[in-house]
Amino acid sequence: MNLSDLAPEYIRAIHPYQPGKPISELAREMGVDSGSIIKLASNENPLGTSPLALEAMTRALGETALYPDGNGFELKAALSRRYGVTSGQIVLGNGSNDVLELAARVFLKPGADAIYSQHAFAVYPLVIQAVGATGIKVPAIEYGHDLDGMLEAVTPETRIVFIANPNNPTGTLLTPPLLLRFLQHISPDVLVVLDEAYNEYLPATARSDSIAWLQRFPNLLVTRTFSKAYGMAGIRVGFGLAHTDVANLMNRVRQPFNVNSIALAGAAAALDDTAFVRRTYALNQAGMLQLTMGLRQLGIEYIPSYGNFLSVRLPSGTSRAIHESLLRQGVIVRPIGIYDMPDHLRVTVGLASENQRFLESLNTALGEAA
Ligand SMILES: *Cc1c(COP(=O)(O)O)cnc(C)c1O
Repeated sequence: MNLSDLAPEYIRAIHPYQPGKPISELAREMGVDSGSIIKLASNENPLGTSPLALEAMTRALGETALYPDGNGFELKAALSRRYGVTSGQIVLGNGSNDVLELAARVFLKPGADAIYSQHAFAVYPLVIQAVGATGIKVPAIEYGHDLDGMLEAVTPETRIVFIANPNNPTGTLLTPPLLLRFLQHISPDVLVVLDEAYNEYLPATARSDSIAWLQRFPNLLVTRTFSKAYGMAGIRVGFGLAHTDVANLMNRVRQPFNVNSIALAGAAAALDDTAFVRRTYALNQAGMLQLTMGLRQLGIEYIPSYGNFLSVRLPSGTSRAIHESLLRQGVIVRPIGIYDMPDHLRVTVGLASENQRFLESLNTALGEAA
């Protein structure tokens, strides 16, 4: 008997998450300088990291011999001030992925099930499967979440519903009234994880008042991240806001030092960097316009997106060749076949020059594929 055969079946069946190809990897494969490659594959911030966060993280480098504050006192205090929640309502994570996993570990087990939408963020099925629970994938409507369908999918064993808003990789958005109605109708015995990783990219009028909803819905967990609009994807820090009972349970299973000291310092400072978030927002708006106009000129369909990325639909059967051509041209984007979208590629909104290069490279690739 092989030791690996003794791992639970649900662990052996996991298909690992496939991240965007790192620039250094493509540079090695192609034997070119990494400076000649652009990566628009992981929804990273093309402006880099919040300068206030960078400054704070540089200062924090002086104390790396010490364990971090396992309770994240200062970051929680900053989040409390910003969002009007108590420290007891906050769960800090090594990225918001960590928070999603904590929710799964607290509420799921073999025999329980959890619901998510077709085309939704790939981490949901992963964290469900990792704890041996059953995932229920509800068909999407026009690439977006079918909230009524998700309500109908609830079984007596359902413990979590995952909702990404906006969703990655489709960029679709649920309006506040739709979400509110869903919260009013779902059983209070089901935790609703509302993943708002791209919240900062929304115009104010499109945002849900999700944090205010926490007071009405003790079964709501709102997750946010510093990876996107704050430009800290490599630092790994995110957080969840919930009822104190939920947060308390999640904090029990959390590793005591899951967020490192540099991340804690950087995130607290980043929260104050409203200027950086404003610049990020404005650049994204302009870049989205540039990309969508360019795509229309190329006659390429796309799903209108509320995030910092766009999923484009390629002529049937060409997406693989086009992806490879883009790579050869030094442009990394993301194939999303694993999201049931084999004809789409997802591109992150970059700097104006990067968007331009993507459009030109896509034009070349389309010519080759024709
Ligand atoms: C990028 C992203 C996250 C953030 O992940 P981190 O672990 O915080 O880097 C969460 N949810 C969705 C839908 C995302 O696209």
